[in-house]
Amino acid sequence: MSISRLTITPQDIEQHYAVISKIGNLGPSPEDGYLRAAWSNEETAAMKYIEQAALQAGLTSRWDALLNLCVETPGDYTEWVECGSHLDTVPQGGNFDGAAGVVSGLESLIKIFSSDSSRKRGLRLRVWRCEESATFNSVYAGSLGAFGQARPDCLNNHFRGISLAEAIRSQGADPDYILYGKRTISTAELDSIAAHIELHIEQGNLLEKEHLDIGVVTGIRGPYRSRIILRGEFDHSGATPMGTDYRRDANLALGYILVELDKLAAQHISQGADLVQTIGVINSQKDWNEKHSEVYQNAVTKVSGYACFTLDARSDDGVFLAAYREEADEAIQQTAAKFGVEAEQSLIGFEPGIKVLDSHLAGVIEHAAQELGLSCKRMPSGAGHDAAIVGKQKKSNGLNVPVGMIFIPCRRGKSHSPDEFTSFEAIAKGASVLAASLARLAA
Ligand SMILES: [Zn+2]
Repeated sequence: MSISRLTITPQDIEQHYAVISKIGNLGPSPEDGYLRAAWSNEETAAMKYIEQAALQAGLTSRWDALLNLCVETPGDYTEWVECGSHLDTVPQGGNFDGAAGVVSGLESLIKIFSSDSSRKRGLRLRVWRCEESATFNSVYAGSLGAFGQARPDCLNNHFRGISLAEAIRSQGADPDYILYGKRTISTAELDSIAAHIELHIEQGNLLEKEHLDIGVVTGIRGPYRSRIILRGEFDHSGATPMGTDYRRDANLALGYILVELDKLAAQHISQGADLVQTIGVINSQKDWNEKHSEVYQNAVTKVSGYACFTLDARSDDGVFLAAYREEADEAIQQTAAKFGVEAEQSLIGFEPGIKVLDSHLAGVIEHAAQELGLSCKRMPSGAGHDAAIVGKQKKSNGLNVPVGMIFIPCRRGKSHSPDEFTSFEAIAKGASVLAASLARLAA
């Protein structure tokens, strides 16, 4: 098939954005940001628009028990070539993280289907629920849930007064699938997935800085996140002599712990490990007010008796990350002990990444970009994506589902904020690469 017949134009993308940009917007202009929370009316409305546009083009649709959406080319196939992404956003988020991939997938299927050529394999777009952790503090609940792997306790997480279970029910979906780990994608369906590709905005600024059109993703970093509480003793800052014989200073221990963690990470990175580590929250932070009221007992004239922080470490190597977690725990305990401070750690989440995405798919994507005259580069993904969840699934033959990812540039690398922006031209280029790749894999 001639690749030009599959070329997706900025206007193709814009027509869908004209509708989606009105769903979940928090004000009249894009600068006001978006909120399409997981299993909210807004997320459902955006998904229903995609379904409607697909049906109008002659494609078929179905919803699983968790109300993840599948759009498919009609017909019976023993093998399927898939793309997928999500339409939920973080609060005050943008309209490109996830949405660019869904719209590109929809247009790819429409273009390939209407080109009328024969195919060995069916084509499918998966629109996942709840990719973002920012609403219910539960990342990938839609895709993990579909494979029976979402953590049941996430159903008790709340966002704006309602639990995740209630949110799921409010849209007519069945939270019992998550509660009991029941899968909505059967083994037979999993076995039939020949390839899965996700297009996504980069959420970093490498492509923009290097003036590149396309990133071919080689690995996806997965996070381990924990919350650490340090308990020392409140004392008078004037009457209590300095030193650990007299003080159990939680804030001082906190300072040393952060330095130790930074040294530990630097040491591993210098030895070639893929690792990024961030201390995002220290002591007071809006969301922590209620849970950590002890922090407000700290005062200018007191030795600190309480401190807390979060640790977010990410790597594309899950085995390394598990070992790193133990080392970081050890460093925290040892350093806290030097100050007579107790450290209590609780795991927020651990989601191992994928070291290498399928090299054949990476080659197919690269070839498509070259054929379209677009510049591209292989690169890791710093953020996690639903594609990583799909890529971790093992088929009956023991092999993982082959997964690829296409990155497109976004302005100044901004994401998860109203500043998130990528042009329809940039999305159309990525979508054309996606369409050409899917067509080739399905042929
Ligand atoms: Zn996303």
